[in-house]
Amino acid sequence: MPDTDKPDRRGPPTTKDGVPHATRVPDRRVADAPARYLKENDTPFALAQRVLSSRWRAVRDKIGRDFMRRTLRIGVSARIFHPEPGSVGLRSKNLQYLEESIAQWVMSRDVLVFMVPTVNTNGLLHPSNITLRHYARHLDGLVLQGGADVSPQTYSEAPTRPEWSGDRARDLYELELLHEFVEAGKPVLGICRGCQLINVAFGGSLYQDVATNVPEAQEHVNSDYDAHRHRVIFPSGSSLSRMFPKADRPMVNSIHHQAVKDLGRDITVEAMSDPDGIIEAIRYQRASFVMGLQWHPEFHRAGGVDLLDCTPILDEFLRAARETRL
Ligand code: MN
Repeated sequence: MPDTDKPDRRGPPTTKDGVPHATRVPDRRVADAPARYLKENDTPFALAQRVLSSRWRAVRDKIGRDFMRRTLRIGVSARIFHPEPGSVGLRSKNLQYLEESIAQWVMSRDVLVFMVPTVNTNGLLHPSNITLRHYARHLDGLVLQGGADVSPQTYSEAPTRPEWSGDRARDLYELELLHEFVEAGKPVLGICRGCQLINVAFGGSLYQDVATNVPEAQEHVNSDYDAHRHRVIFPSGSSLSRMFPKADRPMVNSIHHQAVKDLGRDITVEAMSDPDGIIEAIRYQRASFVMGLQWHPEFHRAGGVDLLDCTPILDEFLRAARETRL
């Protein structure tokens, strides 16, 4: 019997006249032949090398993608509502909240916003090991929200009037939060009270009441609330003058009765109100980005086109957040 087309030594079982059984095993010639799309003379070693390098490429791309594209997570300090004596219901509770437009302003650049609550590690009811350091570790940047006055006690003064005694509890919470984010090398943007707090955190002081302490100053707060506004000047060489090269005495809102008095260490002036020279923005020089604005940029869009669009400041803050994370 001719043996021309039988590379398999066992050969398919056949009947006596050479006709294969109907139930013959599959022809192994097809399975043994190298796939036609493979290179000729390929070695298992070369193939393994190529498989491994393609796996590595996939892992590297995934890491790169996650690093470049992971949505930023920005923390916002809480406003604190202290219970009112004699009240019932929600007003008898400690409330921590954020004002809607601060979250929306930050989210307008497609980042996630988280309000950071106060922590109480030795609380009797709910003891916890979570500290503000954990928040600083897991978030990419911090916005210090506006709100109640900074307590004069925090810059070693006594309140000259009882209604100017501020919120010492919130000061302590935000000072720790600021410290943890600066320690972690993450950027901080302080709004209004947040600007004053940054100055105080580095040893600076405040005017307890601009109208009383600087009688020649223009009005920085009145019954118009966020409709009240004045012009500012960015000193040459400041980061704001670089961010807004074309701004000529831009208009900002003004809803504050306190203001930065003596600058803290390594703090420089970024903006002054025009014409009275009250400090309206500051920057801490020994960190990638720690800046305070005395005005409320989050109200500017709603306030009309006359007000300075502060998106470049937000973007610089977010770029710093992206560069310093990992
Ligand atoms: Mn002002």
